[in-house]
Amino acid sequence: VVRIEHLDKWYGDFHALKDVSQTVAAGERIVICGPSGSGKSTLIRCINQLERHQRGTVEVLGEILDDNVKRLERIRRSVGMCFQHFNLFPHLTVLKNCTLPQTANLGVPQEEAIERALALLDKVQMREHANKYPGQLSGGQQQRIAIARALCMQPRIMLFDEPTSALDPEMISEVLDVMVDLARDGMTMLCVTHEMGFARKVADRVIFMDHGEIVEQAPPERFFHAPSSPRTQQFLNQIL
Ligand code: ATP
Ligand code: MG
Repeated sequence: VVRIEHLDKWYGDFHALKDVSQTVAAGERIVICGPSGSGKSTLIRCINQLERHQRGTVEVLGEILDDNVKRLERIRRSVGMCFQHFNLFPHLTVLKNCTLPQTANLGVPQEEAIERALALLDKVQMREHANKYPGQLSGGQQQRIAIARALCMQPRIMLFDEPTSALDPEMISEVLDVMVDLARDGMTMLCVTHEMGFARKVADRVIFMDHGEIVEQAPPERFFHAPSSPRTQQFLNQIL
């Protein structure tokens, strides 16, 4: 469902992604890790064109991303994203945060939007907070709502960019639990995270990036126990 070929991305004259190729099949769960500045966010953001690449091909759900705005809108609707900072609308209730994108962007009737929102809030165990405002909730709760909100759009792919790294330790697992559930439901997921327990549990493949390149990728058993690159080994020594 995602095919990236010979992708190059520059910020000015800084070469942020260097000849990156990668294919992700439907239902695959990919974890991307690597040092700060290695290009993880840039790679993820190229998949829904929050960043434009200069060279190479990005194909998502059978469509090649280019300047066609209609196509990009279509792709963005099918690709959910969840960031480090939750980006909820502070002036809207939890429920409204979850219904507005549906009614405004998908044209879903209000009642149906509410029904879907409540079902997904239930799934992330936030239904009882539906009428609160984001500011009244903890970081972990807000992040779970951000995930529910993304799921309300019925995405076929979910991108996560360090969804737990801004959270206090005691809230990390409640968000990871939601992500594990999602993985078990068969969602196609690309997750930038350093939560290696999560990677072990759900990843089909772990990708290690350094200096804008994919240095190594392997299933978790091999990635953690027998990485082939010394750079991967060094990185693992630092974070484990
Ligand atoms: P982190 O773990 O800190 O989030 P990352 O692996 O996600 O790092 P990116 O955010 O993809 O790294 O950034 C890769 C490189 O590109 C970094 O050196 C960064 O400084 C640079 N960069 C990122 N965004 C921009 C931008 N908008 N303009 C210029 N340079 C940028
Ligand atoms: Mg990043």
